[in-house]
Amino acid sequence: MAEWCRHYGVAIWAYRLVPNNVDLIAVSNEEESLHLATGEAHLEPRKPGRNPKAKWGEIMSPGLRDSTTVSLVHCKSYDSSLVDAAVRKALEPFGGMGRFIKPGARVLIKPNLLSARAPEKRVTTDPEMVRSVVTLVMEAGGRPFIGDSPGIEPFKRVIAKTGIEEVAGELGIDLLELSDPRPVTLPEGSLFRNLEIASQALDADVVINLPKLKTHTQMLMTLGVKNLFGTIVAQRKTEWHYMTGLNRDTFASLLLHIYEAVRPSLTILDGIWGMDGDGPGNGNPCQLNLVAAARDAVALDITICRLLNIPLEIFPLYRAARAAGIGEIRPDRIKVKGSSLESFQIPEFQVPELDSLRILPGIFDGFAKRYLISKPVQDPGTCAGCGECVEACPADAIELEQRRLHFDYDACIRCYCCQEICPRGAIGFKKGLLLKVLNRFHR
Ligand code: SF4
Ligand code: SF4
Repeated sequence: MAEWCRHYGVAIWAYRLVPNNVDLIAVSNEEESLHLATGEAHLEPRKPGRNPKAKWGEIMSPGLRDSTTVSLVHCKSYDSSLVDAAVRKALEPFGGMGRFIKPGARVLIKPNLLSARAPEKRVTTDPEMVRSVVTLVMEAGGRPFIGDSPGIEPFKRVIAKTGIEEVAGELGIDLLELSDPRPVTLPEGSLFRNLEIASQALDADVVINLPKLKTHTQMLMTLGVKNLFGTIVAQRKTEWHYMTGLNRDTFASLLLHIYEAVRPSLTILDGIWGMDGDGPGNGNPCQLNLVAAARDAVALDITICRLLNIPLEIFPLYRAARAAGIGEIRPDRIKVKGSSLESFQIPEFQVPELDSLRILPGIFDGFAKRYLISKPVQDPGTCAGCGECVEACPADAIELEQRRLHFDYDACIRCYCCQEICPRGAIGFKKGLLLKVLNRFHR
């Protein structure tokens, strides 16, 4: 007996349990887990029309409360029918899209629309993934719209180049720039006082998160949780980069706060083609043949790191989620359904070598910045002198003079937005003098 819950953005399954003649109401957002947990207990759907009083976790055993599912499916190309079959299959463990969509619900589909690159560059969520998810939402009776707030480039240019505008036009749905920030109060004890999230994301009945699998020179990987940074309105993004400054763990905490505020009901990852090397804007496209889905984006991100053989401890989001107790990070509590991790033949996957800001205590930050942390540098032969990096820099640390970039490394907060935005891949990194030596000690 499913009832709708806006807080979780999913159908809530409620049953009357009759184990040993003791009646209690069990509430779960996953019918299958409820069956597993209750074992031999007799289950009776509870009467419709009454709101469940208990919340998920109040009655369930700790084992069930702490488990979550990540679904993995092979998909070898962006052929429409293959993608559609893969997405449907990925949602099977959750009971299909219908479980998440109430008829008439307004559903935000949030792809990764980082910048204006063609789909073959593998910078943005592929339009065929978007098409498939939109179609499923429509089949379930929802009213989907696509939305994002690209960091720097104009929205119109991004949606045209990435093929998303064409898909939205063919399916006859709205494509909105997330442009209206609204304050969100964070729980007591949060690192930040408040956040401003796009109202279109907060007001949607359901949010479906559609990230692209990519490396990230600042955060190691950009997957489900990081994709929701796109719900921060564009001009505010640079402010947040500036405020979190050098500290990746602080930035990861911010990402988790955004994730909690937006609460996507589902995250469906486009990993058919992903990106390794110096992602998220200028890495190497690589074929991984993967579609993944989960309700818990943290669990999904952790599972993808394991699939790629990335040690979890070097992933800033893992450390931040562990510290904050947000999402499921324990591999033994994550149920992988569909294909196994081992069934994905991952070629050499190059992750960026992150400078460790944890090598020295905080009082050495200035020293670390100067001598340890990689600096952005220009490749003058590749640079077109367009000035986009200058515009993107939140610290105003770049000047452009006759095609030569001058970096103010004291002002630079090492956010790597300049590298992310450069359409020519003309910004690289130069390691600090001591970094190689220290890295050797910390392997
Ligand atoms: S480095 Fe890239 S973004 Fe900056 S001016 Fe050169 S081409 Fe443009
Ligand atoms: S120079 Fe590049 S890395 Fe440094 S603050 Fe500006 S955008 Fe960020």
